[in-house]
Amino acid sequence: MKVKITETILRDAHQSLIATRMRTRNMLPVVDKLDEIGYFSLEMWGGATFDSSIRYLNEDPWERLRELKKHMKNTPAQMLLRGQNLVGYRHYSDDVVEKFVKKAYENGIDIFRVFDAVNDIRNMEKAITVAKKEGAHVQGAICYTISPVHTIEKYVELAKGLAELECDSLCIKDMAGLISPQQAYDLVKALKAEVDLPVDLHCHCTSGMAPMSYTAACRAGVDILDTALSPFAWGTSQPPTESIVAALAETKRATGLDLGLIAEVAEYFKKIKEEYRCILNPISEQIDTNVLLYQIPGGMLSNLVSQLKEQNALDRYDDVLAEMPKVRAELGYPPLVTPTSQIVGTQAVLNVLMGERYKVIPKEVKDYVRGLYGRPPQKIDDVIVGRIIGNEEPITCRPADLLEPEYEKMKKEAEEMGLVKKEEDILTYILYPAIAPAFLKGEAKEEELTPVSTSQNPSASANTTVVHTEFKVEVDGEVFNVKVNPIGGAFKVEEAKEEITAESVPGAVTSHMQGMILAIKVNIGDQINEGDTVCVIEAMKMENAIHAPHGGTVKEIFVAEGDAVTSGYVLMSID
Ligand code: MN
Repeated sequence: MKVKITETILRDAHQSLIATRMRTRNMLPVVDKLDEIGYFSLEMWGGATFDSSIRYLNEDPWERLRELKKHMKNTPAQMLLRGQNLVGYRHYSDDVVEKFVKKAYENGIDIFRVFDAVNDIRNMEKAITVAKKEGAHVQGAICYTISPVHTIEKYVELAKGLAELECDSLCIKDMAGLISPQQAYDLVKALKAEVDLPVDLHCHCTSGMAPMSYTAACRAGVDILDTALSPFAWGTSQPPTESIVAALAETKRATGLDLGLIAEVAEYFKKIKEEYRCILNPISEQIDTNVLLYQIPGGMLSNLVSQLKEQNALDRYDDVLAEMPKVRAELGYPPLVTPTSQIVGTQAVLNVLMGERYKVIPKEVKDYVRGLYGRPPQKIDDVIVGRIIGNEEPITCRPADLLEPEYEKMKKEAEEMGLVKKEEDILTYILYPAIAPAFLKGEAKEEELTPVSTSQNPSASANTTVVHTEFKVEVDGEVFNVKVNPIGGAFKVEEAKEEITAESVPGAVTSHMQGMILAIKVNIGDQINEGDTVCVIEAMKMENAIHAPHGGTVKEIFVAEGDAVTSGYVLMSID
């Protein structure tokens, strides 16, 4: 039987290689042709596309969906949905999930691929049920990872649960490119034998094994494969469409797709790739052996490097690499995908940099241990739970059961701010309350194409200025690697700022990391106790509370919300 192909060029391919920066105007001229090829589906929305559109491209993601859809007469439009997280980074209340899924369907999504970072089906239920009710095809995804608790039996159990929710197909979502040909064969075989649903295999080439795993999956009876047109294939992206189609051509699993037509479209994207060359991180195109050794996805490693650079601690890279699997095991082996990859990665960085494990614990890590992201794949040891959240009891219910309806309240807020021209704008505001207002008011600007740090998560470079210190210089065709070191060692975050040292300020409260002041929780004159939260610093995309080292009266505050601070920076003084 024919293998079907899901083309990822309009979503995952450019999310993986150029940080989700492809513009709608680069897609539109070729959609008619893409539509003729005969793909099972075109993945074109969801994941980071929503975030990136409003944050960097000054594009309305809903508009993109509608525009692309107009040209898709034959091919179903597919999106990736993070379960209860929708296309954001936290759980939304059920009424928001319902509105969002309905609107996505109404605007043109035919296939919803729904996943949850910890494979907790309770976080997928609501989105699946609503999409099914609307009449969409729902693909229930299983996040693939390797750990002592991730067995074939466990995956089959999840797949059966998804079938019970009336999913139309299953997806093995191998976001880190970890699955080996043998594992792919065994898993596909088991799913096909135990669950009566078509199976899709979604891999990334990060480890170099994906094309081999695809052929193994074909022998095991996989129904759908995810591929990307060659200019945006390989590396941290999917295997190339052309190669997979050609490789299967003489087998019983031939796709029946016209390679000539595919090549024409690929030719178009070759030119598009050149336009984005300056933001293409060469690392994303390489085979990453660390994935094979440490099972850490590529996007996470590039995030790790930029986090360490931000903290001036790139020399601790190996220590962090060793710490990461320890933290992951202690947190119950979550698959590493947004947002669990950030949760594990950041805690590992902090454990190494603070010189003491779990000395500083971001809010997101605490929330994860509280059970607010869902049930960890393995129960977390009581000692670790105590270390992270003290005497608090983790929740056992579905996390969204604790959320009050929020749609009407946020709708009112958005209307009062004058942001709403259409119903979809309310959802854009609910999902991205910090950046949506400027966008919806028409004050956002399209980012220029200049080098950025490429990662799977576009917000990685949101508030940080990337300072490049290593350059390749070409002289007469010869390439020299040049490294520049700033005089005086470290970069100053804000040079104009007067140097205040802890020694010169009595009762000084200092920052223990480099980051941005997110909130100041006290005012001058406030009486506070030792351990009270005095401000919140956003470092490495996580919120970290700064606690008062001693009680007293707040005498002076040296920082304002939005300020960048270095480690050791004096934030305030308490008498
Ligand atoms: Mn992917």
